[in-house]
Amino acid sequence: MSSTKGQAERGYVLLINPRYRRNPCSSAMRHALTPALALPTIAAATPQSYRVRLHDENLAWGEPPLVPIPEVVGITVHTAFAPRAYELARRYRALGSRVVLGGLHATALPEEARCHADVVVAGEGASVWPQVLAGLRAGRLGPAAVVQGSFRSPPYESCPWPRRDLLPRGAFVTRASIVATRGCTQRCGLCYLATRGLRMPYQKRPVADVLAEIDATGERFVVFTDNNLMADPGYGLALCRALGPRGLLWTAAATIEVARHPQLVREMAAAGCQGVFIGLETLSDATLRSRLDPHLLFNTLNLIAELCRDDPAEAERCVVRLSGLLRAALDRAEQPLVALGHELDLCADYLDLCRARFGSRLEVHIDRDEGADSARVPPLAVQALCENAVRHGIERRPQGGTVRLHSRVLADEVEIRVLSPGPFRGERPGGLGLDLTRRRLALAFRGTAHLDVGTTDEGDGTQARLRLPRRGEP
Ligand code: SF4
Repeated sequence: MSSTKGQAERGYVLLINPRYRRNPCSSAMRHALTPALALPTIAAATPQSYRVRLHDENLAWGEPPLVPIPEVVGITVHTAFAPRAYELARRYRALGSRVVLGGLHATALPEEARCHADVVVAGEGASVWPQVLAGLRAGRLGPAAVVQGSFRSPPYESCPWPRRDLLPRGAFVTRASIVATRGCTQRCGLCYLATRGLRMPYQKRPVADVLAEIDATGERFVVFTDNNLMADPGYGLALCRALGPRGLLWTAAATIEVARHPQLVREMAAAGCQGVFIGLETLSDATLRSRLDPHLLFNTLNLIAELCRDDPAEAERCVVRLSGLLRAALDRAEQPLVALGHELDLCADYLDLCRARFGSRLEVHIDRDEGADSARVPPLAVQALCENAVRHGIERRPQGGTVRLHSRVLADEVEIRVLSPGPFRGERPGGLGLDLTRRRLALAFRGTAHLDVGTTDEGDGTQARLRLPRRGEP
């Protein structure tokens, strides 16, 4: 293929979705079901004085056109096809086009992407696209500039609708891929929303605007491509009630938490919902058991790096504590229940590391009844309560305070209390941490273990109270 430098056509913008190797397990219909909206959204943000063309290599459209030579080429980059994106960038730069790279991979690794581009856009591209085009034409941007887009400005509801008119009508089962909400109320570490540098807040569009966009597509089958359409059940309900009278068919992604709202599920079905895509992080209880706050690991390693210089003895103590903690987490991952005494030892190590990290902001008081040590508990269940206490009672309060861990025997039960400073603000709706611990207790003890969280008896702090059978078996 020729790559001779030539005269670029002023005002011509080519937007490319590069091809990537198809997973043999995924459907051949994957790209043809409904269009991805990233590039049509960038097209919508392009000033009218430019001529825009879209090219998706995954839709059997072949190689993107080299003639006429575009003034600007925008390429979306995901990790799966980053090498192809960089190859295309090289090709168009050699022709004389200015190349802008954006997308998740470019957001996470702008330093890598800028080696292949005139401009890298990190974060939301549409919010800065007109400025990028103007900056390139005026010679104000580059070489290898990094521009940060914002998900807050302009407000989500004022963003223009994606330009579906640039998509060939026959190429998709439906062109009505719609986004009603952006981001998610959860913060799962495994999710693409956790991509470094993405910073996408949860936002909802007015229901009337969503319906107007659907109407404008003229389609009867709608695919909501939101990360979690029912993240706010109240919004989901309002959307369903507005969709119902239109007689549409639609699908969406949600979490399994949606099943906690039977009324919502009924209204989804009545409003034409044909299916809900639900992702499961893991089916393995061992994996759920072994979760240990990854931030603790990173923060402790940073702390150790600092202490190596200022206080080598304390650094050594932290290394020993941390390795013990990690070893215990790994050793116990396969066990459904462990002795409470071992769990409390691990919590003491955990809180000790936190104390080293927070310094005078954190005091720890542990009051153990050794008679309770032989009770059995799901591994890391009490540690998760300590983690919550530190996160909500210390990390978010500049003045810090004391975290207390108490165990005692009560007739046929043992009681473990974790107390932290700061008012109890209620459990976060849909929060996974306490929920996960409760589910693990229910699995292990079939209703004979209980976890409640609320205000301390003194009314000045937050208390998590765990009651377990003393004999440790259901
Ligand atoms: S619930 Fe789903 S969409 Fe939301 S953060 Fe978790 S994985 Fe991502």
